[in-house]
Amino acid sequence: MNNEQPKIPQATAKRLPLYYRFLKNLHASGKQRVSSAELSEAVKVDSATIRRDFSYFGALGKKGYGYNVNYLLSFFRKTLDQDETTEVALFGVGNLGTAFLNYNFSKNNNTKIVMAFDVDPDKVGTEVGGVPVYHLDELEEKLGGITVAILTVPAQVAQPITDRLVQKGIKGILNFTPARLHVPEHIRVHHIDLAVELQSLVYFLKHYGNE
Ligand code: ATP
Repeated sequence: MNNEQPKIPQATAKRLPLYYRFLKNLHASGKQRVSSAELSEAVKVDSATIRRDFSYFGALGKKGYGYNVNYLLSFFRKTLDQDETTEVALFGVGNLGTAFLNYNFSKNNNTKIVMAFDVDPDKVGTEVGGVPVYHLDELEEKLGGITVAILTVPAQVAQPITDRLVQKGIKGILNFTPARLHVPEHIRVHHIDLAVELQSLVYFLKHYGNE
């Protein structure tokens, strides 16, 4: 985040990538301005929330004009650090890890997985999706200043790897393992348990699907 900018509430910050993606498409199709009603329809956020969110960015839509797409885009680019790429390390080149390495978020994002770690001798020393796979023993040596890690290892090894990452100064961890990670307060962990997410979706469909 750019330090010169005012602090944006977390709930607003979470919606930024959503707005950004939509505005990029608008811009690509040659549109210069957009109303909060159009935005609301496209990103499924009510227009009062959008107006409040945008007021934090100093974007005050004009009645009958809407918002200037270029202004918003340049704001989002700065705020989301789209001009800077954040390097990411991935741990565990199994089925899920391999899929991430091949996908590599590069098309519409500002993050890039630049190295991966595993312990399987068949995987160490190879490249997957153009990303080198190192042995876990090389973590301290190779990680450098990387601040974000993705964990796609078996659950039982997630905590010991996390402890080493914390030692190395990691700032954020995207945890795809079912393990609950213990980290110091200043480190951010986002936990995505795909099995739980899928189960909860199915649960909601069953119980609230017909409303
Ligand atoms: P696969 O079919 O390749 O085994 P998987 O996703 O079903 O994939 P998992 O058992 O979940 O397999 O392991 C994911 C990956 O994590 C594997 O590539 C495995 O070699 C690797 N792995 C296991 N232990 C560690 C560890 N301590 N550090 C890093 N990677 C590890």
